[in-house]
Amino acid sequence: MNERSFTVTVRPDGASETVAASVREALLRSGYMEDEDRPGTVVVVGGDGTFIYAVHRYMHCLNDVRFIGIHTGTLGFYTDYLDSEADEFLTDLLKGDLPVETYPVMEAEAGTEKVYAINEIRIENPYRTQNFSVLLNDIPLEFFRGTGVNVCTQLGSTAYNRSLGGAILEKGLPLFEMTEIAGLHHIHSRSLNVPFVMSDDTVIRLQSDSYDRAILGADADVFDLKDVKEVVIRKSPEKKLHILRGRKISYFDRLARLT
Ligand code: NAP
Repeated sequence: MNERSFTVTVRPDGASETVAASVREALLRSGYMEDEDRPGTVVVVGGDGTFIYAVHRYMHCLNDVRFIGIHTGTLGFYTDYLDSEADEFLTDLLKGDLPVETYPVMEAEAGTEKVYAINEIRIENPYRTQNFSVLLNDIPLEFFRGTGVNVCTQLGSTAYNRSLGGAILEKGLPLFEMTEIAGLHHIHSRSLNVPFVMSDDTVIRLQSDSYDRAILGADADVFDLKDVKEVVIRKSPEKKLHILRGRKISYFDRLARLT
């Protein structure tokens, strides 16, 4: 991996494109080389959504890439600089000694497909009540009926999980969280009905007679589950996410910006 090969992934809006252009020029002037296919460093200019897009764009070579983000809005969870701090960003990056934080990546196997996520994997059926059995490390937990279920990483706990009433998991905790999406609860239908936080070594199997018209969501990507009977969610044994950490920002500080 050549850390001085880089690319810039940018949200397509005027403010982000202006910042991206000046960062790109400064890096080229400093001896960095542009490599759009297998970059050592990916500079993300936009928001957390742009960061996720960049991670999926480079999923084929994820272990060899370091991501670093400039947020052109309010500071997110994946980005350490604001657009007004682009000069500070360049000084820090060009020094070349930024610490790297490594995060787990989640994967789901569905039939012959394997998909990856850094925020969450979810099953949702907007057309009809979805039934499936939930097994944790091959031990049956429950029979779920409802719209679906969301399983997030620690990083994804502030995303869709939060909107579903899931708990926010503090940075660094090696956990997954499973949250129901509109579960049915009455005398003939019982499931946990609360978010469940578990070790991220847990293997989650979601087995159904039919996932017809249900979708499998992996961050911003969506896949059809037609003909699939089982979805297996686990921590990826091979893929990891590496983030270059610039400005030291406490997790509680980031959290405070949500309120
Ligand atoms: P998107 O527009 O790229 O993102 C939707 C919102 O989620 C944006 O405001 C984004 O922040 C924020 N976000 C993404 N990851 C986050 C994280 N780890 N912590 C806190 N906020 C986060 O939408 P998309 O392309 O459809 O999907 C990307 C992600 O959006 C998914 O992984 C999912 O978690 C989230 N999402 C949430 C809901 C919901 O809450 N109801 C619904 C669909 C999707 P920025 O503004 O900084 O980009």
